[in-house]
Amino acid sequence: MLAPGSLTSDTLGKHQRFQDCNMQPLTIGAFSVQSVYEATGAYITPADLFPDAAPEAVAAHFDCMAPTFFDTGSGKLKLVFQSFVLQTPNHNILTDTCVGEDKERANPNSHMKKWPWMDNLKALGLTPADIEIVMSTHLHPDHVGWNTQRRDRRWVPAFPNAKYVFARDVYAHWETDSNAGTEQTGLTFIDSMLPVAAAGQAVLVEHDHQIEHGIWIEPTPGHSPGHVIVNVKSNGKRSAFVGDLMHHPIQFPHPEWSTCLYWDMAMSAASRTAFVGARTDSDTLVLPVHFAGATAGHIVRSGDSQTFKFLDDNN
Ligand SMILES: [Zn+2]
Repeated sequence: MLAPGSLTSDTLGKHQRFQDCNMQPLTIGAFSVQSVYEATGAYITPADLFPDAAPEAVAAHFDCMAPTFFDTGSGKLKLVFQSFVLQTPNHNILTDTCVGEDKERANPNSHMKKWPWMDNLKALGLTPADIEIVMSTHLHPDHVGWNTQRRDRRWVPAFPNAKYVFARDVYAHWETDSNAGTEQTGLTFIDSMLPVAAAGQAVLVEHDHQIEHGIWIEPTPGHSPGHVIVNVKSNGKRSAFVGDLMHHPIQFPHPEWSTCLYWDMAMSAASRTAFVGARTDSDTLVLPVHFAGATAGHIVRSGDSQTFKFLDDNN
């Protein structure tokens, strides 16, 4: 059973100099992973992000979270927005496509943004035509924005040669809400999913779908209906792209703390607790989307709890 604990300064402190995402390129067996950075910001107070957590329990972590994960000046937690490119001998796979460009959104933090995400992709030596598979852990607006781009006043797929893989029930949920006019996030399905489907590039799959040998999805519902993670195994090395299963390293000692961003907080806590329990002290390299600093790391036991040990700079 997982017990609450605290992040320790020796697991987080050595990364305090990182102000933004600076994930280094990684290898997972025969595969490689790179981050495509979009933006970082101090967005939300701990009390707002973790409404069910006792304020004093959250405050106990502030010292070891600043400045990478906590902005002392504003009193807000810092989150990064990024995508991952997984390159195998067979495919270039992009997971989660950030906020995107020129998208009309209700949230001012993502409304009509022009961040250099596409330039950052090209800086990795990749063009949009090189991306062969686009994966979404879920369909929130900060994970599907670059699915499409505006061309001649129309939204068209940003990756002309890619198959966009969606978990079938996730897609169905957003399609139903969009058709009923009840999609909480507004235009996301219309401007970021429908153009992909209209171009014949959407592929709807089941929750145990294998993208290629050694890469498969796994259901982790709660943050959104049908949220999935992407598991990777190559030459005995393991990794997991966990999307928004967690938003902040504080959720490793406290997997029971769901954020206000969740669709079903109890279901989210159950999915996260099960994941943390199964991967603690394992060789699985965990890649959450919204972690600032080095991003990637391993879940390690710490006393009667667990914490997140980031890879050091050279890895
Ligand atoms: Zn997100």
